[in-house]
Amino acid sequence: MALNDLTEAAIVQALDEFDAIGREAFLDKYGFKPARSYFLVRAGKQYDSKAIAGAAHGYVSDGFEPLTHDQLTGGESQVAPVLRRLGFEVINTQPRNPDWVRDELILALDFYLMYRSALPDKRSREIQQLSTDINKLDQSIGLSGGDTFRNTNGVYMKLMNFRRLDPTYTAEGKVGLTRGSKAEAVVWNEFADDTVRLSAVAQAIRDGMSTDVDAADAQEIDDPDFTEAEEGRLLTRVHRRRERNRKLVQQKKKSFLKKHGRVFCEACGFDFEETYGKRGSGFIECHHTKPIHTLKPGEKTKLDDLKLLCSNCHRMVHAKSQWLTFTELRNLLKQ
Ligand SMILES: [Zn+2]
Ligand SMILES: [Zn+2]
Repeated sequence: MALNDLTEAAIVQALDEFDAIGREAFLDKYGFKPARSYFLVRAGKQYDSKAIAGAAHGYVSDGFEPLTHDQLTGGESQVAPVLRRLGFEVINTQPRNPDWVRDELILALDFYLMYRSALPDKRSREIQQLSTDINKLDQSIGLSGGDTFRNTNGVYMKLMNFRRLDPTYTAEGKVGLTRGSKAEAVVWNEFADDTVRLSAVAQAIRDGMSTDVDAADAQEIDDPDFTEAEEGRLLTRVHRRRERNRKLVQQKKKSFLKKHGRVFCEACGFDFEETYGKRGSGFIECHHTKPIHTLKPGEKTKLDDLKLLCSNCHRMVHAKSQWLTFTELRNLLKQ
């Protein structure tokens, strides 16, 4: 292959030319676009790696021509190892793609199980759509990465990762991609046997994707002691926002007060005013009891869906990723 003809001396000549005529003229002369991620570094200065490789080919020896952009089809990531082998430093300036989060894995698993027996081709419209969906989701939860972030390739790889966990696949003696993260296994174990719930959660995530949460709002909602639900980050936020809806909380407290004459924890009976006096008067937290994936965007919360809880009880409900139901919380207290 042409790239293998490159020599250290030829690269140096191309770098010198780059210095002599400047970046813009150099890229223009050889017909390359500015590099997106891979740069060769010499004496602290960055050079577009692909353009350097292309130009250097013309300097290998007599009869060699520069390589054009079209001839270097492998892209920047293929040029980088060649340059490194010749002793040059090449850096990748793109941010690393973050690990997959639960929300993304839920969408991917839902897709995987839907097409389990015959996964669509990497270039299919279905995979393209999944990649688009996941990018949209990531935008609403503020997750981002480099140029290849959740592209069709990455999304397809993730589906392949699920195969190693899939008994119907491994039973045939095949093995899926052995590399994979623990998070995939966790989501698989939680959802693979309950596709009805999985589809409902995936649909709720898709429905929630369009509702904007601005950054400040999101930060307030992402309390570190408030463990993300099994349903993922986005739906956790939807839940949190509902619980914090001031108007709704006021209405709930008012109706509770009317009925009981005071506010107290519906699980353990704790009354803030009784313990803290005037300072605790009227203080109580509100918890939304409906499973979050059953909440439709824009659906009005009914006062009956809310329970008044003391801060301890409320924390306990959300302390582990499988949030407690109100009944489970009551049962824990009885023990
Ligand atoms: Zn309580
Ligand atoms: Zn809650």
